[in-house]
Amino acid sequence: MSLPSTIAIDGPAASGKSTLARRLAERLNYLYFDTGVMYRAVTWLALERQASLEDEALITRFAEETQIDVRPPSKDDGRAYDVLVDGEDVTWAIRSPEVDANVSVVAAYAGVRRALTEQQRRIGLRGRVVMVGRDIGTVVLPEAELKIYLDASVEERARRRYQECVARGDAVTYEEVLQAMKRRDQIDSTRAVAPLRPAEDAVILNSDDLTAEQVIEQVLSYVRNCG
Ligand code: C5P
Repeated sequence: MSLPSTIAIDGPAASGKSTLARRLAERLNYLYFDTGVMYRAVTWLALERQASLEDEALITRFAEETQIDVRPPSKDDGRAYDVLVDGEDVTWAIRSPEVDANVSVVAAYAGVRRALTEQQRRIGLRGRVVMVGRDIGTVVLPEAELKIYLDASVEERARRRYQECVARGDAVTYEEVLQAMKRRDQIDSTRAVAPLRPAEDAVILNSDDLTAEQVIEQVLSYVRNCG
């Protein structure tokens, strides 16, 4: 049986993509690569430098010139990997509500996408990879052998994200998380370049009524039947 060597997992925020991809990569002994961290890292840097997020040329330069590294976890604090921006550990900083609120604006810039997509594609083409994002099956790796589009209702996704925020001690309300999620969905799915949408040959799964375990079992059955 030949297994798919490149697996693309796309879908909206908090649909369960990262959990699915991490577990899938563990089971198959593949690289797990979450492309969202790259857009988050550029957004974090722009906020840190107090740059205007409307300055597309400047933000694009950050994406082109900044060294973003994803490495095996150096700490046992719940992280799946380390994210380094020019050597600085930003693993948790890129998960802040400020980054959440601004990342879609940064990710809509064509120059930012060009710079980051190029790096993602280089990594993906090496194979044995589970790559997660919004445009992996449509733009980054259209030749991926298995494409999954993981969806869930916005209320369920906001509930999951709210619980993560509370666990981390962020001071937010459910309503704020829900509104921010709706805004991010809207920007991600209507932008001109690489909008969030399922590839024509993607398998669409809705995780509203499925446990993480059920989602992975379902996807493993697609993996086995793919070759
Ligand atoms: O997946 P995550 O929520 O970490 O992604 C953060 C943001 O990065 C998304 O809302 C989207 O704007 C952007 N993104 C993207 N394309 C990807 C991955 C993430 O536009 N492949």
